[in-house]
Order: sequence, then C-alpha cells, then structure tokens
Amino acid sequence: MMDYERVLVFGAHPDDELAMSPAMALMASKGVHVTVCIPTNGSEGYPRPEWKDTIVQTRAEEMAAADKVVGISERICLGIEDMGLTNDKETFKRFIKVVRNVRPDVVFTHGPHDNHRDHLATHALSKEATWQAGQPVSRDLGEPWHTPYLIYYKGVQDRQPDIQLDITEFAHIRHLAAATQVSQFALWHKTREDFERLAEQAKQSSSPELEPFWFSERMSIPYLPPLEQK
Ligand SMILES: [Zn+2]
Repeated sequence: MMDYERVLVFGAHPDDELAMSPAMALMASKGVHVTVCIPTNGSEGYPRPEWKDTIVQTRAEEMAAADKVVGISERICLGIEDMGLTNDKETFKRFIKVVRNVRPDVVFTHGPHDNHRDHLATHALSKEATWQAGQPVSRDLGEPWHTPYLIYYKGVQDRQPDIQLDITEFAHIRHLAAATQVSQFALWHKTREDFERLAEQAKQSSSPELEPFWFSERMSIPYLPPLEQK
C-alpha cells in the first residue's frame, strides 16, 4: 500500500473520507499523494435550523482543517447538493474526469452496503468510473487511465476484510480529524473534549490498531497488489 504514488479517495459527503483518516495519514507520511474527491457540498448536514444558510461554507472550512491534520494533498469538491447525488450521465462523466486527472494507483471508495442514497450513488459512480476512465472513450474528459486497484474502506457487510492495515502509529489522527468537524458534533454525540481525550488515549495505547479494507469485486484476481497482510 505504501508503494503507491497517488491515491484517490471518494467520500460522498465532507467527512465520510475521514473513516480512513489514519490510513491516509500513514500513506501521506510515506510521501503518497493523497487526493480526496467529495461529490456533495454537505448542504443537508445542519443539526440546527439556523445553520441552514451557512452550513456549506462551514463544512468547506472544516474540510480544509481536516486536510491539514490528516495530510491530504488535494481535495476535489464537485458541489452537488446533499441527497441530490444521482447516477446520471453528466455526473458519471464528472467522476471519469476526476479519475483521469488524478491518475491514481488505487481508488478507495464506499462499498455497496449502506442506508444513505448519496453513499450508494458514490459507490456506483466511482466503481464504474474507475473502470470507464481506462477505456478509450469520451476523450475530451482526459487521457484514459487504468487504475489497477479499487478498494472499499466502508460499506461492506457480507464478508471479512481482505486487508487489515496496521495504523497503530496514526490511530489518534482519527479523533483529531473528527475534532475539526465541529458542525457534526451533535450528530456524533461528542464534544471537542471527547475527541481530544480519545486522541490522547490512542497515543498512549500500546495495543495494535488495524483498519479494514475490502477489494472490490470489480478487481480481477491477477491484479492483487503486494500488500502487507496482518
Ligand atoms: Zn456521508
């Protein structure tokens, strides 16, 4: 995993990608260029009605803060309204363009099992776009790019993980990254102090922390990467 030069992480909403923040921090520490693509703008993520008109700007600022904490190199936001992400032709072409521009060695994305419509749409769009980007079609969207590996970081409930990445050294990053998402604290039933305490506990802890990943069924067996298995 650490041999990658460029990785692309799709997360439906601002903060979804933080589910793999320790892994992103680990890769960034090894010099991997980490790009995150968020198709939606977080517009429905307001736990208080009076935040409705400012939530998009707030979440943009929270994303920028998370980028610094995690070491994310680049973030691409498509600006589509929350709950409005659909698997249509126009959006699909935007996903293809992202893959071709980033030219990743691996795409990380949502798996197929989820409740949220935007998560399911992101799964379908990113999975198909990762494949379609490598085909010599729609050439105005950029040079075709074949991404060898497509990996899920959440949203898989019917099988055991294919990889258990050792992220012990970066386990605290999960909590520090969450602490930047102030507008979401009410949804998570936590305060900044909770996250800071959890981060400190993770730093002090000596027990190993593993992060699960699943290969997409889109990947063919001969392309399995030489990953360290735990
Ligand atoms: Zn989400």
